[in-house]
This record gives sequence, structure tokens and C-alpha cells, in this order.
Amino acid sequence: MPRVTSSIASNVEQVQERIARAAARSDRRPEDIVLVAASKTFPAEAIRAAYDAGIRAFGENRVQEWESKQAELTDIKPSWHLIGHLQSNKARRASRLFDWIDSVDDAELAAKLDDAAGETNEWLAVLIEVQVDPTESKSGVAQVDLPALAEAVIQMPHLQLRGLMTVPPFCEDPRDARPYFRRLRRLRDDLEQHLGRSFPELSMGMSHDFEVAIEEGATQVRIGSAIFGERARK
Ligand SMILES: *Cc1c(COP(=O)(O)O)cnc(C)c1O
Repeated sequence: MPRVTSSIASNVEQVQERIARAAARSDRRPEDIVLVAASKTFPAEAIRAAYDAGIRAFGENRVQEWESKQAELTDIKPSWHLIGHLQSNKARRASRLFDWIDSVDDAELAAKLDDAAGETNEWLAVLIEVQVDPTESKSGVAQVDLPALAEAVIQMPHLQLRGLMTVPPFCEDPRDARPYFRRLRRLRDDLEQHLGRSFPELSMGMSHDFEVAIEEGATQVRIGSAIFGERARK
């Protein structure tokens, strides 16, 4: 096995063990937490190595970058998530390339995704990205606008709203991110009450803070550097 490939395999194993321990601490089952490997900047062969190590969900940030890699990976069928900000002019391409859009943050974008998915008689799983700290985050819907956006999205026949996603501000001590994760969960609970539906997914937690996120109810953790190594700086 090439060195990079074998280190990805052992990183996956270590991250899975940490997920299992965090789940145990919070009386949860590890199989209820999906590890979404965040593969931006890494090549198709790194994705394949993670797949071979058992990963069945991947998150990419940019439509164009993923277009350039996916041709090499058509033989594997994990679920592909778009986790980065999506411009509505790329909604059609994104709907063809991804199974999940985790970063829906406005109704116009959602409507374009719905139309595009409808053209092929398909549906897309989506999460609404929420800004949990308006002073720091660039993307995501403002908390006050979340109920109206969710109400709009659940009317769209080709979108299935599964839950919420967030990227909290970077905290030196990951425990300081706990209030943000707690807030996302509370927003989700309020939304379920308000709309009388269930939105089971909470996508929160990255390499630096995923254990805290799991303790606060994450069902999907998006992990890049702890699996693939440090990203090259631009
Ligand atoms: C890059 C990225 C991640 C993973 O970040 P790491 O710190 O490398 O684990 C998770 N979510 C989003 C939205 C990202 O852009």
C-alpha cells in the first residue's frame, strides 16, 4: 500500500474510534453518527483510499473541483455531499453531481435546486445551513430567517429537508464551541415543533471539535484534515 493511502486508512480508524468514544460518553450509538469525509483539495485517489477504509459519505466544497475529480470515481457509490457555499447559478450542476446539498441558505437557491431535481424526476436531500454566530460566519441563513426558509423548502416537491448544518467560529479550545452546537440543536427542536415534522440530521463538528459536537447531538460530522492530513495553503 502506498504510504499516503495507508495513513488515510489508519486515520479513518482513529477517527472512528474517537467517534465511538464520544458517542458512548453521551449514551449514543456510534452507528447513528455518519462520518462525512471532507475531501476538498485532495485528489480522487485520496477519496478512493478513504472509501476503501470504509467511508461511505464525502463532502466537497466546490462544484467545479468535484466535477474534475468525479470522473475517476464513477465506480464507487458513497453519498456525495456539497458542504460549501453554493451560488444559485450552479444549482443545476450541483443537483446532478451530489446526493445531498448541505448548505442551502436561501429560498431562491432552494427553488433552483428543486426545479433542477424535478427535471430528472429525482429528489435531493438537503440541509439548511444556519449562521450560529452572525459576527463571524460568512454563510448560512440568519437564525430569524430560518423558520420562513424551512417552510418554503418543505413545500418543494423535489427537496427533502433532513435537518440543519452549521460551521461555528473557530475556537482555540473546542469546548468553547459547545454553545453553538447546542444552539443549532435547539433551533432544530423549535423548527420541528413549529412545523410538526421531524428533521433528524444535525451536521456539525469538524476535525478540531467533532467530539464536542457529537456530545451535543451531531448526526453527521464533516472531517477533513484528521483523515487526509493538512491542506496546502493557497
Ligand atoms: C473543510 C471543511 C470541513 C472539514 O474541516 P477540517 O477542519 O479539515 O476537518 C468541514 N466543513 C466544511 C464546510 C468545510 O469547508
